[in-house]
This record gives sequence, structure tokens and C-alpha cells, in this order.
Amino acid sequence: MFKVVAATANPHKLVEFRKLLHDQNAEIVGLDSYPEMPPIEENGKSFLENAGIKALAAHQYCGVPAFGDDSGLEIEALNGAPGIYSARYADTPEGRINRVLTELKGQTNRSAKFVCIIAIAANGEVIEAFKGEVKGKIIDTPRGTNGFGYDPIFVPEGYEQTFAEMPEELKNKISHRARACQAAIEFIEDEMSILDDDF
Ligand code: IMP
Repeated sequence: MFKVVAATANPHKLVEFRKLLHDQNAEIVGLDSYPEMPPIEENGKSFLENAGIKALAAHQYCGVPAFGDDSGLEIEALNGAPGIYSARYADTPEGRINRVLTELKGQTNRSAKFVCIIAIAANGEVIEAFKGEVKGKIIDTPRGTNGFGYDPIFVPEGYEQTFAEMPEELKNKISHRARACQAAIEFIEDEMSILDDDF
């Protein structure tokens, strides 16, 4: 069993990560286990940069391998917004959804995608990063109560339900985070010795 810190304090994401990595011989702890750690400043200009910043900060502070994720919603008609500003697009989850829907009023192009980058830091540096995407459409009226964030307005390609209407097991199979995690898991399985090293 090896210990990995997930550089997130978002309990929804932590639950998703634990489910996604449940077959691995890994104990995943979140930043809630390190309450004295100063907040990580997310000042990167891309998902990749932010994921690396989070992974490295958690690794350096906690002294064990860490992964950092950065994710968000990119809407085609809004030139990729809210993108890296997804978590900060308004003050509340409802406010963020309302802002997106207001900006999309009258737009026929509803194409969007969720993007997730997972970066892994070990041995004092970011060693690898993985990307996952899920394409879909933004609907006019929020539906469903599962999940978090923009889930109630996002219908993934090939499905009728929003992410917030589908069972979480299904979202966890097809989501951007699941896809990035899958790639990260394959790497971890191949390179387990890197993560088992002393730090
Ligand atoms: P992060 O914590 O900096 O990665 O912020 C990502 C933000 O993107 C979240 O606060 C949500 O607003 C949005 N987001 C990322 N993944 C999802 C998802 O699976 N469902 C809904 N919203 C998401």
C-alpha cells in the first residue's frame, strides 16, 4: 500500500478519485488531512500549469507523491470560457450556471467539453501529466441533483441525461476525470517503483 496525496480539498472530487483508484494498492488522502498547509495559489494560465502547481505544492509540503488535477468546462460559443475560471465564474454554483446560461442565450451552438488534467509529482518534480476530455452539449434548463458544478447543464455525447441525472457510477466511467485517471493509473502501474522510492 502506498500513500498518495490528492491536491484537492473538494470533497466531491476526492470521493470520485477514491472510487476511480479503488483497485489500486493506494491510500489516497486529501488536503483536508493537512489543515495547516497554506492554500495553493492557482495562478497558472492553463489546466496543465495549474495541475502541476497543485501536485508539486502538495508533494513538497506532504513529503509523499502527490497528484494535482485541474479541470473545467470549455464552451465552444464562448471561445473556451469558463475554462480555467470554471470554479470562479461566479460566487455560487447556481450563479456560475446562470452566468453560463445567460451568456449562451440565443446561441444555437451548444457544444462544450469538460477537460481534466492530472499531474503527478514525485522525487521533487512534476514527473508526468495526463489529459481526459468528455464532449457534450449545454442545455437551457438545469436538470438533476447528482454530482457538482456544471453537471446539471451538461449532457455528454451519446446520452440523454445530464451528468447530474445519471447514476454516479456512469459519470465515473465516462467523465473527463475518469479518462485522465485511467491514463494516470496505467502510468502508476508501470512506474510504481518511482512512487515507492524514498523522498
Ligand atoms: P478546479 O477545482 O480548479 O479543478 O475547478 C474546476 C471547476 O470546474 C469546478 O469547480 C467546477 O465548477 C468545474 N468542474 C470540473 N469538473 C466538473 C465536473 O465533473 N462536473 C461539473 N463541474 C465540473
